[in-house]
Amino acid sequence: MADLYDQATEHEERFRAQALAAQARRTLRGVSATHCVRDDCGAEIPEARRRALPGVELCIDCAMRDEKERSGR
Ligand SMILES: [Zn+2]
Repeated sequence: MADLYDQATEHEERFRAQALAAQARRTLRGVSATHCVRDDCGAEIPEARRRALPGVELCIDCAMRDEKERSGR
């Protein structure tokens, strides 16, 4: 159990660091995607969301799905 937990935590930390780094790069440029970058989605991202989250690249649905998948593991 301890090993599993350590692995999950390590993975989570690496994932978060990567996500933060990517987010920081995008925020520096101030570029938000106008449409969801998920290949299987492509939904338009509302302007309010793009302004609230500079550099955002997922629509609300995909962002919520990501959250769920991450917290579920
Ligand atoms: Zn999407």
